[in-house]
Amino acid sequence: MPKIKAITCHKFVNSRGDWTLGTKVLLDDGSIGVQTIPEGASKGENEAQYLPINKAVDIVSSAINDVLEGSDPYDQSAIDQVLLDMDGTDNKKHLGGNSILSVSLAVAKASASSKKQELYQYLADLYGNKLPQDNLKLPTPLFNILNGGKHANNGLSFQEFMVIPSPSFSYNEALAVGISSYHLLKKKLLEEGYEVDVGDEGGFAPNNFTVKKALDFLRDAVSEKYKPGIDIFFGIDVASGSFRFGDKYIIKEEKLKLTDGGLESYYLDLIKKYELMYIEDPFYEKDLPAWKKFTQLVGNKLLVVGDDLVVTNPHILKHAITQKLANAVIVKPNQEGTLTETLEFIKLAQQAKMTVIISHRSGDTAEDTFIADLAVAVGADFIKSGAPARGERVAKYNRLLDIFYAESVRTAG
Ligand code: PGA
Ligand code: ZN
Repeated sequence: MPKIKAITCHKFVNSRGDWTLGTKVLLDDGSIGVQTIPEGASKGENEAQYLPINKAVDIVSSAINDVLEGSDPYDQSAIDQVLLDMDGTDNKKHLGGNSILSVSLAVAKASASSKKQELYQYLADLYGNKLPQDNLKLPTPLFNILNGGKHANNGLSFQEFMVIPSPSFSYNEALAVGISSYHLLKKKLLEEGYEVDVGDEGGFAPNNFTVKKALDFLRDAVSEKYKPGIDIFFGIDVASGSFRFGDKYIIKEEKLKLTDGGLESYYLDLIKKYELMYIEDPFYEKDLPAWKKFTQLVGNKLLVVGDDLVVTNPHILKHAITQKLANAVIVKPNQEGTLTETLEFIKLAQQAKMTVIISHRSGDTAEDTFIADLAVAVGADFIKSGAPARGERVAKYNRLLDIFYAESVRTAG
């Protein structure tokens, strides 16, 4: 049985030009796991707290290293429990969600390497998911190809406009749909004289757009090649907390000041007009009656997705399940801070028959493809990794492609 020999850590730069940290776990059998940490721009209020980077680096390399040295890396839940006990707070503000997550995930990677397993296989074993010998199910990618909100500076209130290939496509086909859609949208924007600068997640961020104009553009662009409602669908991450002031939602570009009910009607109109399959964070995370009512109203037709609502926190999710606040959830390991809690969250969601979407963050690194393996390991329905462009976004899509082709070869042989 290997033991943890040393944990080291230093600074890395993320895709937004901010510092983050990268942690290396070395086992005494020579295996290594390295993990860099993403960071969001539109964070939920109940996310694990990050520590300033120099402090986080110091905590990982000294305090955490000292405590975990000599531990069994295969016992992930024991490792995570030690981290939780050392931290002792409910939002990880003592050790930092960034410090804790980097160690938790790097330990899992080192262990997978020590066992000579693919990371997704190791994580599936940890999760108790027996992966099928053939027809391994890969997640359907959600491509955020038009950006607004806190990810762009274009005055568009809603944060993400996604194209969603029909889940009936195989992964390589779905990726091709995303890539074609990205180019079709770029072509149309250029033809109509718009900028094709991109936002934080690689999607285009044109000026003078409204929500309807964005959805019209997406639909017109992709209709050149695909049939909306059949082989392609649309999704939005409203990230509505970012434009809620007092008890009103302010959609500046349309001069709208909406109550919960007004915003609900706004969505019902969109649902009528467009082939929407997915609406994320339609209401502010504390606006629970609005969530409940909306899910009751449209939950049988489309995915009502909680991100800031549940922040990958098992306790908060339990409440959302009993109250029927949403029918789908986002999973971001860095919202919670340990792998064990992340897996517990996914288990609860799947047991409640919720749709599971594993997600990147808007500040991310190309070195980190953990979420791709996690999505395969737990049999997630979807993965969100932004546009099919920019290194830190495509790293996750490419890792899935790699798994897809490796599996095709293995099952053919
Ligand atoms: P964030 O946004 O990573 O900037 O928080 C992503 C999301 O809201 O889904
Ligand atoms: Zn979101």
